[in-house]
Amino acid sequence: MRILVTNDDGIDSPGIYALAFALRRVGTVTVVAPDRQQSAVGHALTVSSPLRATPFRRNGEMFGYAINGTPADCVKLAISTLLPEKPDIVVSGINHGANTSLNVLYSGTVSAATEAMMMGYKAMAVSLTDFGWEADMSAAADYAAMLAERLPGLALPHDTVLNVNVPAIPSTNIKGIKATRLSDSVWEDVYQERFDPMERPYYWLKGTYHARGEDDSDDRALADGWVAITPIRYDLNNYAAINTLSVLNGLQP
Ligand code: MN
Repeated sequence: MRILVTNDDGIDSPGIYALAFALRRVGTVTVVAPDRQQSAVGHALTVSSPLRATPFRRNGEMFGYAINGTPADCVKLAISTLLPEKPDIVVSGINHGANTSLNVLYSGTVSAATEAMMMGYKAMAVSLTDFGWEADMSAAADYAAMLAERLPGLALPHDTVLNVNVPAIPSTNIKGIKATRLSDSVWEDVYQERFDPMERPYYWLKGTYHARGEDDSDDRALADGWVAITPIRYDLNNYAAINTLSVLNGLQP
């Protein structure tokens, strides 16, 4: 199995290293990832400047290609141009921090997987509920490898990405996998106001996450010690509302 690995925390993150290392047990891994932190860039693409692919070494060996672009750029460039052979699956992560609920819309990790799905590939995103660079990635890596092996055989619809979140608890306390939906959680936005040396104010986002945690949701499953796996798709249509808007059909100013 050929596996393309990417992320949004950058090619030098501990999470992508743990993921690539674990996935080598189940396939041939190629890493193409951003050359810097790209969290919360969503599905952004680079269109007004050129992309460069720079070989990146870790622990004295070739690890992958660092791209001066976004996670979605990495998937597009890798599959269309850089890889000599098309991958069987694409795996994004392991993200430092959960990607549950509405966070999938902001997440570069999830968007990389979504881009792969839009290009016709089986894809999943993997995240750990710990932002720390020192977090233990081993359990998340083991689950990622296990799910990667099964991903081609899962009868998921072609428009669907597997969004995996692993709780940052001792691996012996993890209860296993649970299929979930995105919770209806919310962010309470807080911008800290500070002042630069010229006494001009600047603002830095530091939101507070309020996990609602409905029974069948990803946030609840994580809180209860499960690995939450959520099938998500990009169909943003609100079909019922099309009918609601049809009262405006034919309207002209
Ligand atoms: Mn990230």
